[in-house]
Amino acid sequence: MDSSIAPELECKIYKYLLDSGCCYSCCLRFLGTKSTEYFFDPIKTSLKLNFINADDEIKSETRCISCLGILDDAIEKEAVQKIKEAIKNGGYDSSTFTFALSLPVSLTIRETSIQIALSKKFNLSEYQLIGLKLKTWSVKDVWKAQVVPIIENECLMKNVTAPVPSLFSIDISFINDTDEIECNKLLKKCDPNFVESKHKHVNDKIYSRNTIEKILSSVKEENFIEYFNIPIDRPAEIIKVDKVGCSHGSIFIGGRYTKFNRKLSQTPWFINGEKKMETSVQELICEFIVEHTKAESLKFLSSGREDVDVRTINSGRPFAVELVNPKITNISDDEFNDMVTKINASTDMVQVTSRLKLLNSDDLKRLKEGENQKSKFYRALCLLRSNTADTIDFEKLNSIKNLEIIQKTPIRVLHRRPLASRPRFIHDLRGRLLTQQEIIKLSINTPENVLKNLFVLDLKTQAGTYVKEFVHGDFCRTKPNLGDLLHEDVDIVALDVTGINLHWP
Ligand SMILES: [Zn+2]
Repeated sequence: MDSSIAPELECKIYKYLLDSGCCYSCCLRFLGTKSTEYFFDPIKTSLKLNFINADDEIKSETRCISCLGILDDAIEKEAVQKIKEAIKNGGYDSSTFTFALSLPVSLTIRETSIQIALSKKFNLSEYQLIGLKLKTWSVKDVWKAQVVPIIENECLMKNVTAPVPSLFSIDISFINDTDEIECNKLLKKCDPNFVESKHKHVNDKIYSRNTIEKILSSVKEENFIEYFNIPIDRPAEIIKVDKVGCSHGSIFIGGRYTKFNRKLSQTPWFINGEKKMETSVQELICEFIVEHTKAESLKFLSSGREDVDVRTINSGRPFAVELVNPKITNISDDEFNDMVTKINASTDMVQVTSRLKLLNSDDLKRLKEGENQKSKFYRALCLLRSNTADTIDFEKLNSIKNLEIIQKTPIRVLHRRPLASRPRFIHDLRGRLLTQQEIIKLSINTPENVLKNLFVLDLKTQAGTYVKEFVHGDFCRTKPNLGDLLHEDVDIVALDVTGINLHWP
């Protein structure tokens, strides 16, 4: 079936739209003008395409029946001015941008009315009408075609929408007083299923964009015509620029940290809203990163987490910081190094042991996978309850490989984890007596009879293994446990994380 519209008919449609109260841009967009440049100067384009003549009077009405004035020069200038101010005041360092445009929902009602008017006036076939609808440019696209080049030129930023849109978003919304009246009318008159009390209120309105579009797609023409003028009336007021704001999507910065303190939690610790510890790994690391990037807030992510009383030594634990709405996102290697220096100079409880780097989504996936899949290394200082450590048959203990254990959720975490039995693997065990050096170090705080009962156990375990519970048995909730292997009561005195297997950052 033929959906084409002859050039003479196009001219008539253009003239009818203009006489009915459409602006020049809207006349062009209903006819599906091919290129973006055609919208830069719609009057010039209309002349070029012979839709109007050079001696025609140029209309200056701004209350377009279709776009409500969004595409009007003066409104566009006002919007551009507000956008430029928002960019300037925002203090973002992005060199790219994307627009997030919020328009009144009633624009689609107006468009429907105009399309019905065209089909009736020119007796268009069903296929011609479908063709016309398909080639109509949206108000959004025309607005962007007109405003994007201005912002690109005047703010020296590039509009990036594909393949991945710029993280820096300029959010702009328009409001119009008639929006609510028209949408409510459509809802109450044209939706056969309408029951007022059943509709959820969205921002104090009883409709959403989705509901309106759904009704419009199914409403019968004769029903629509009964309640809306064809073509629709001019709005009483020209549209207004409501809000213009800027925001930046999250960026992620990653590195590794070591922790040398046995009284430091990984994240701020609150009980009933009260902060239980002065600081945390997260706060010590993130202060300078947030300061530099001027982020609004942060989330701390890491490959597992150590208990308050556990140290993480050697190469350290992989971590990432999500910076929400950051302003500074172009960070040089020197600036990253400077952050590391500042963090490490500010505390001796935590150190960043790697370079810092901006992460991409693959990096984050690796961090998440590493948390559950990679093996981890630990060193535990253990205590035999009733015997000296030199009675242990270390050779026998150390010959155990890939031992499968079953761990019931430890008592100490039962309040926040569901009760379950999880199989875990202890890949490798290496027990030994203390070295002379370790004895000297420990002897300061440890009575001699206790010192003799101490031994060191190095372990390589599957991620997610509760190592403390493997050592002391957790009232037999971990089976087998170290005590079972040694046929002795064993306790744990101290634990260090000595390695986390992940290529990071
Ligand atoms: Zn218009």
